[in-house]
Amino acid sequence: MELGKDGEAENLKELLRAVFGFAGFRAGQEAVCRAAIEGRDLLLVMPTGAGKSLCYQLPAIARGGTALVISPLIALMEDQAAKLGALGLKVARIHSGLDRAVARQACVDYLSGQLQFLFIAPERLRVPGFPQMLAKKRLALIAIDEAHCISQWGHDFRPDYRMLGEHLPGLRGGENAAPVVALTATATPSVQADILEQLGMVKPLKFIHGFRRENLAIEVVELAVPERAGTIANLLADPARRPAIVYAVSRKQSEALAGVLASGVAGRGGKIAAAAYHAGLDAETRERVQKAFQAGELEVVVATIAFGMGIDKADIRTVIHAGLPATLEGYYQEIGRAGRDGAQSRTYLMHSYADQRTHDFFLNRDYPPVENLNQVFKALGEEPRAVEELRGASKLGEEEFDRALEKLEIHGGARVDFGGLVTRGGTGWKKTYTIQARYRAEQFEKVLRFTTSTECRMAALVRHFGDVADASRTCGKCDVCDPAGAELRQFRHATTAERGMLQEIVDELRAVDYRATGTLQRNLDMVGRISRNDFEALLDAMVRAGLIEIEEAEFEKDGEAIRYRKARLTDAGMEVRRTTPVALLISDGIVDAFEARADGGPGAKKTKAAAKKVEAGPVTLSAEGVALAARLREWRVAEAKRLRVPAYVVLHDRTLNALAQARPGSPRELLQIEGMGPAKVEKFGEVLLGLCGKG
Ligand code: ADP
Ligand code: MG
Ligand code: ZN
Repeated sequence: MELGKDGEAENLKELLRAVFGFAGFRAGQEAVCRAAIEGRDLLLVMPTGAGKSLCYQLPAIARGGTALVISPLIALMEDQAAKLGALGLKVARIHSGLDRAVARQACVDYLSGQLQFLFIAPERLRVPGFPQMLAKKRLALIAIDEAHCISQWGHDFRPDYRMLGEHLPGLRGGENAAPVVALTATATPSVQADILEQLGMVKPLKFIHGFRRENLAIEVVELAVPERAGTIANLLADPARRPAIVYAVSRKQSEALAGVLASGVAGRGGKIAAAAYHAGLDAETRERVQKAFQAGELEVVVATIAFGMGIDKADIRTVIHAGLPATLEGYYQEIGRAGRDGAQSRTYLMHSYADQRTHDFFLNRDYPPVENLNQVFKALGEEPRAVEELRGASKLGEEEFDRALEKLEIHGGARVDFGGLVTRGGTGWKKTYTIQARYRAEQFEKVLRFTTSTECRMAALVRHFGDVADASRTCGKCDVCDPAGAELRQFRHATTAERGMLQEIVDELRAVDYRATGTLQRNLDMVGRISRNDFEALLDAMVRAGLIEIEEAEFEKDGEAIRYRKARLTDAGMEVRRTTPVALLISDGIVDAFEARADGGPGAKKTKAAAKKVEAGPVTLSAEGVALAARLREWRVAEAKRLRVPAYVVLHDRTLNALAQARPGSPRELLQIEGMGPAKVEKFGEVLLGLCGKG
């Protein structure tokens, strides 16, 4: 039957209504369905909850026959199968959690052509004869859910997904082959390319959309660790900012923050119904917290990443990250839980140098040295051995051993069966494990770059997910687009001196295509006048004002990629003359705290005391200060040894004590300490700030 375009569209909508009971398509769904129905291979990248499943389910029904759905998690499979079953569709699933008899019946039903959907776990394809059994029937379509699992660049790499590439040609058939529909919520451009290649997709179409969230204002603020609890409590004291989720980096921080919130804000009595949620709590408690939050009895949950998967709450007004997340994917999913109802919502990301150290710690724990894995691997053989026995014989600690075995298993170096018996796997684990560990570290570097970027926050995220077309539009609401509207982040007006430098920068850039920012500073001989960090802050302010553009670039030196930033004048920048009035808002480093007003109205930022040199001299230190001084001294000894210089060359006693007293939180504050010149800040700044931010 030949139908016009309108007729086809009507048919599809009718099917959508009749089978799924939906009134219409959501953004993006129709085009995807149409392509799949036509038999095109495609990759669909849309955020969680956007409605990706429909994009293979509807085409499967329209094409007729059985759709094969490959899914990495039993829970996901059960959930989808139950939903389809409830719609009256014929569904079966085969996975390790089911009885043999159920699996056998599923095969019988499949072969008799009765099934509309068959869900399988990827490892099924390893069962001898199973792919051949599947290949006996022509499939309507093959859907691969959570397709990022196939990529070793993806964060949930599953080696079993790799087998798909080998089996798909046989399964999809020759003439009028079944299309392959790959779905995922988290695929950066490199992961996307990997998926297409690994699955051997034929002339694939890519659909990437839905990442922009119009009602989220993102704010990123540098804030010392000890300041965070008070600032969060003050922010959330305003009822308009609740309900809220606060993401903590550790169980300890989650407990502590929940405690601060529940016990009332800074002695003002404003107690907030808050609770902690993390993997260390028993299942019952977690369930209770989740339900209470859902029901509105709890207004704030302070959670580690374990929270949120099952949360379906539309009116979350605020999401706060009390520390840096490990990946932008995770970050995006977490802030995405705010404002599902479409109303304005705000998200805050707090960070400082100290977060990098915390992250390094977790990275080393989660991705132990290859040597650990190797030790476990060597102890394995053809003969199955009990996990406990191996663990007992290993030189590694219990946790270390388990972690190493887990990684080996994920990467195919070990096979663990349900009885806890382990046999040796292939030798390929070393390569994929190393790549993945490195990839993890790079992902965190992307988070760091996100925090220091001058690009619109929403645009940066949209770009990260590969929607380049949509990334050119700014959001108008984030701390970059609207610095004056930022609630935590502080900006100040440029000084006369800085406005003078602005003019020099414009004049220098006018003559060239671009300059590396470091070269620019040296050429203008500003090294003595302004610290590298302040210079970068000035440039960032010029970017926000639309006068220059900055591009991240890198070159190779001795096989290592060196990153730098290129500055270029914009058309607006070209117009700037000495007489042009320019309103320049400069990022003012760390915000000290955010104070809730007693009347419950919007809060006020408390600025650090005006720039005055901290007196160096005999000082009395608090207990905290004494501890910090001790840490600094310890570091100084090690550093002096490393550099082979006397300790005072690294830091004078006077400077050391002043540091311990002032606990600087930013490079700018470091510079205010006597004995800390630009060169010292450049060399030791990061480490010193790390030490000062501890505890
Ligand atoms: P994803 O896989 O993208 O995370 P799902 O496919 O699980 O999302 O869909 C999320 C929810 O949206 C489901 O409850 C689904 O029924 C619903 N949904 C999908 N498409 C539509 C639509 N066109 N109209 C209404 N609801 C929809
Ligand atoms: Mg899904
Ligand atoms: Zn923006």
